[in-house]
Amino acid sequence: MSTRYETVIGLETHIELKTETKAFCSCAVEFGAEPNTHCCPVCTGMPGALPVLNAKAVEFAVKAGLLLHCRVSLRSKLDRKNYYYPDLPKAYQISQYDQPICTGGWLEIPSGGGTKRIRIERLHLEEDAGKLIHGEGGTLLDCNRCGVPLIEIVTMPDFRSAEEVTAYLQLLRERIRFAGLSDCRMNEGSLRCDVNLSIRPLGSHALGERAELKNLNSFQFAAKAIAYEERRQAAVLDAGGALFPETRGFDEGTGETFPMRRKESQSDYRFFPEPDLPPIVLTQEQVARWASELPELPDVLRERWRATYGVNRETAEALTVTRAAAEAFERAAALTRFPKLLATLLAADPARLAEGEIPVSAEHLAALSDLLGEKTIGSGTAKELLALLWKEDQDPREAVGRLGLGKITDRAVLEPLTREILADSPRAAADYRAGKKAALQSLLGQAMRRTQGRADPDVTRELFLASLQAEPRKEE
Ligand code: ADP
Ligand code: MG
Ligand code: ZN
Repeated sequence: MSTRYETVIGLETHIELKTETKAFCSCAVEFGAEPNTHCCPVCTGMPGALPVLNAKAVEFAVKAGLLLHCRVSLRSKLDRKNYYYPDLPKAYQISQYDQPICTGGWLEIPSGGGTKRIRIERLHLEEDAGKLIHGEGGTLLDCNRCGVPLIEIVTMPDFRSAEEVTAYLQLLRERIRFAGLSDCRMNEGSLRCDVNLSIRPLGSHALGERAELKNLNSFQFAAKAIAYEERRQAAVLDAGGALFPETRGFDEGTGETFPMRRKESQSDYRFFPEPDLPPIVLTQEQVARWASELPELPDVLRERWRATYGVNRETAEALTVTRAAAEAFERAAALTRFPKLLATLLAADPARLAEGEIPVSAEHLAALSDLLGEKTIGSGTAKELLALLWKEDQDPREAVGRLGLGKITDRAVLEPLTREILADSPRAAADYRAGKKAALQSLLGQAMRRTQGRADPDVTRELFLASLQAEPRKEE
């Protein structure tokens, strides 16, 4: 982009809360379910149906606000935002207008080697709309998503680049996900963001006219849309034109933004207090209890594991993929003498870690890393055992005995084995003595084959070397 302008961005992020039921009825929240199997008179806006607020949605919204250092309003209210769209059977959305549940927070993102604070203006509770499915014969409506609880998080116009936007979204996603409040999957629409972008001449402090960019389904698309929009707006100003507030879409095929409509103003929605629901009233105690239920932040955990166990950043990131994974590691790490080995072992299969609850007890995880650390088993066996424990939790020490998986370090067992192999392979022995050091590898390979990989490689090598160097050459 032209170096004569500065980019200014504010984000509106919508996150679907992972509650069991919808915001105002008892329909289940389930992504990917058969269309129209999770709906009722309330979420499809039938006459006479009355909403009841889901207490879990309130709890999750407050917890999200606390993760973002927001002030929690002990009293907030719900409002109707009126508009017609085919995916909105009620023709209004229940949202929060002038009294949101949380206000005034911040999130510190990495930026230019240091950190930068992004201010959060507000976080409010609202409901999702349904989904339109455009097909050959026409457009179909799936109401399963109608009424799914959402939080909308609005930042101040504090971003100056696409990199800062990405850093913010990554951190936000990690925190919300770690606290179990949402899956935050952009591809499934459980995290969606609108980018408000304007530019201004360098040195100017006034805000320019913004375009609001909709439907950005991945971090990559958000970055592309920003780059395109920066260029487009600069070109308009450079040509002496004027920008005006508008809503634009992003075409994933061309990488371009395109005009959708002039920006609607707040008064277009005729907001008014939701007459069917009372205000949301919370107590200080309730908020304090919710705060105490939040997990430690993943960045704090990672730093502690680095300092106390020497766990590297990549491994620690794999372990903080979910709260369940992090807590399973914490408990087991306290019980084993080899916490760093345990971290590496667990992080080796990140997809499995991310699945959900960890089905192996802390004691068994600790015993497994002890077996590895004591060199009773090698890392290959440890991985196999972990997979076994994942299917059926059991004591790995017993499993090693029962399955004959222990590493053989006993010289009384390995000594006769190496002699036998040397006797069977005079060729390899001769090659080694003639200076072909690689022949030792083939001897070791045989020892491994004959013990199904259980011979301790260090001890076995040592025994081979001792014999090869001690035995007189036959031909002498
Ligand atoms: P609306 O619903 O009209 O989009 P919101 O208050 O929900 O209004 O969101 C406004 C968002 O746009 C905020 O993130 C804000 O920081 C950002 N914003 C407002 N004005 C500008 C501007 N001139 N340039 C860039 N971002 C802006
Ligand atoms: Mg907006
Ligand atoms: Zn319903």
